[in-house]
Amino acid sequence: MDATCGMFGRSPDFLNVMLTGFAIGADEFGRRDPKFAENVRKYHAFARDADLCMTHTLLNPQVDRSKPVEAQDKDLAARIVRETDAGVVINGARMVSTLCAFSDDILVMPSTFLATNEAAAPYAFGFSIPVATAGLKFICRPSVVHQNAGSAMDYPLSSRLDEGDALAVFDNVLVPWDRVFIHRDPEMCNGLYSRTGAMPQVMHQTTTKNLAKPSS
Ligand SMILES: Cc1cc2nc3c(=O)[nH]c(=O)nc-3n(C[C@H](O)[C@H](O)[C@H](O)COP(=O)(O)OP(=O)(O)OC[C@H]3O[C@@H](n4cnc5c(N)ncnc54)[C@H](O)[C@@H]3O)c2cc1C
Repeated sequence: MDATCGMFGRSPDFLNVMLTGFAIGADEFGRRDPKFAENVRKYHAFARDADLCMTHTLLNPQVDRSKPVEAQDKDLAARIVRETDAGVVINGARMVSTLCAFSDDILVMPSTFLATNEAAAPYAFGFSIPVATAGLKFICRPSVVHQNAGSAMDYPLSSRLDEGDALAVFDNVLVPWDRVFIHRDPEMCNGLYSRTGAMPQVMHQTTTKNLAKPSS
């Protein structure tokens, strides 16, 4: 963080810490089916050993925030459309995916409150897949890097530290069962960060980043 003046909002260690928080609380993922707890543990070990760079997306697209996701007029939010022997099929969009252009994998987890009913269950999921998975697209915002800058020193921060942000679009994306961490479980989604204890870990990383920011 000191090396980047705390300007790297979603440096890879952010998701490393979040995933480690989930792995510490892995038992919580197995409360309905132990295979999901095992998937979290195995994925944590894989991400550590492969030194993965991950992006993440926790939010549904902005349509009408006064209504729950399952009652939106436009059916844009990512949801489970079917299950197969191979895995879960996801269709729809999620926002915002910072660092996606530099990442190996995308962690797709819940963050907004879900009603604990059948209508909300298709929106209650958690998984991680390679960004190069068939059917997954990223609609990226324009870069802030000045393309025709005479020198990087003309724009010392934006020319170096633009992580990029994008809308993630899932077009019938197959998520293999061994990469599924939460499946049609709104209750697990609603208590995820408190039950696993992941949030304090993430907040420690974010506080460290902010401490490194040059104070005005
Ligand atoms: C640069 C940037 C990078 C980001 N990177 C990531 C990332 O990597 N991964 C990720 O998951 N997210 C990322 N985000 C998304 C970020 O987490 C959200 O922007 C943030 O949580 C706010 O959600 P929103 O943008 O959907 O705003 P909204 O929730 O739509 O809020 C807009 C306004 O409406 C108000 N509002 C919302 N709902 C209601 C309601 N029901 N009643 C009354 N008022 C309401 C809010 O208070 C706010 O004032 C990023 C965002 C930015 C700006």
